[in-house]
Amino acid sequence: MSDKLAITPLDAWTTKKIGVKTLTADKLAAYQLSCLQTTIARVQQLSPFYRQQLAGYRQIDCLESLSRYPFTTPEQLAKQAGVMMCGSQSQISRVVTLATSGTTGNPKRIYFSKADQELTIEFFATGMSTLAGTGDKTLILLPGQRPGSVGDLLWQGLQRIAAIPTLYGLVDDTAVAVQTMCREEAVCLVGVPVQLLAMAKYWESWGQSAWTPRRVLVSTDYLSQAVISELSRIWHCEIFDHYGMTEMGLGGGLECAAHAGYHLREADLYFEIIDPVSGKTLPDGEYGEVVFTTLTRQGMPLVRYRTGDISRFITEPCPCGSILKRLERIQRRKDGLLTITPAGQLTMADFDEVLLGLPGVTNFSVTVIKNKPIAIKLIVEVVPGQSPTDKSQIYQAVRQLPAIREAERQGGLVVFGEFTHKLTSAPGKRSIQVTVGAEEDAENVR
Ligand SMILES: [Zn+2]
Repeated sequence: MSDKLAITPLDAWTTKKIGVKTLTADKLAAYQLSCLQTTIARVQQLSPFYRQQLAGYRQIDCLESLSRYPFTTPEQLAKQAGVMMCGSQSQISRVVTLATSGTTGNPKRIYFSKADQELTIEFFATGMSTLAGTGDKTLILLPGQRPGSVGDLLWQGLQRIAAIPTLYGLVDDTAVAVQTMCREEAVCLVGVPVQLLAMAKYWESWGQSAWTPRRVLVSTDYLSQAVISELSRIWHCEIFDHYGMTEMGLGGGLECAAHAGYHLREADLYFEIIDPVSGKTLPDGEYGEVVFTTLTRQGMPLVRYRTGDISRFITEPCPCGSILKRLERIQRRKDGLLTITPAGQLTMADFDEVLLGLPGVTNFSVTVIKNKPIAIKLIVEVVPGQSPTDKSQIYQAVRQLPAIREAERQGGLVVFGEFTHKLTSAPGKRSIQVTVGAEEDAENVR
């Protein structure tokens, strides 16, 4: 390799945070064990939920023995958030309410103290220094109105590394967002993959500005290869993916310049990969469900929280030289496999790869209607002002998916679609909708 890759800044940050001179896997493990022991003792004492859930469980004496402990599930978080909290409500400075997938169910509530939010700002500041430096104008295309929201914490993090952040909010008008980006001469963007894709395709058709962003961080939803290819083709920019969810304290891991998996936020979170069926901890390198335990959180520590995301640890060392664990890019959730025929299964990511690279296409929704034959309804969002792609191109594209081709061949499937200039779905993790007739009964398959 001619150019030496910059090591992820998370490495130096972790070294400093755990208070060692040189970071080694052994030192990191010792730190994590000590944090886990403190967290467990704390929740057993202060959280009514964990006092009950972990009653009779002996303290762990090595990292591996954490696998004896029960999991915390999103369902428990939805039902029992109030008793999961540690200490009194007065120490909580932010509560995030998240809708749960499915038709029924309480929203999940996650409680953060001031100190918890500080940890996130620090992680954001360090992580963002991978792509933004002093004086770099950075457009934040995420919600940021409320104090403590993701956009607000990111803004604070960027301030700390002397970048120049502008809080824009989610993109509801692509043209305005692109004009703002060009006017402000934003070097970096942080946003939702399909919204960034819409901006790039609009920018391409607009032809009014030569300004292009240099580096882009995607957030909130999975990043498909089609989006990476389109953003790099149109803007020639470098694209960084990160992994996180509110339950983790927003940030969980971030790619380095090697773009080969997320370096994990190991000073704040302990990650495991488990067999989603048996619950057994899997050896490094095998695919399974991502589970994490918070190491430094105060308001609402979580012990062995099941994320529902499927991935694996990458066992080979990263070209950047970091010793932090790497998690492979997440492509699906454990409930995200849709079986339409015995011939094959589909995920939202499969549709992303064949549709998002088509000219003018910026987003789409998929609804599977379980009739006989099964129908797949596609609503495809195209750039306003651009002539829509011919429908036959859409059908041809989805027929590249073997499960669809095979089901159609067997006469068990019909595909139909329509175009729109604006999908009304809220940004977030996009998912395949499944319905058995009336669309109101739709359930999510991510
Ligand atoms: Zn790396």
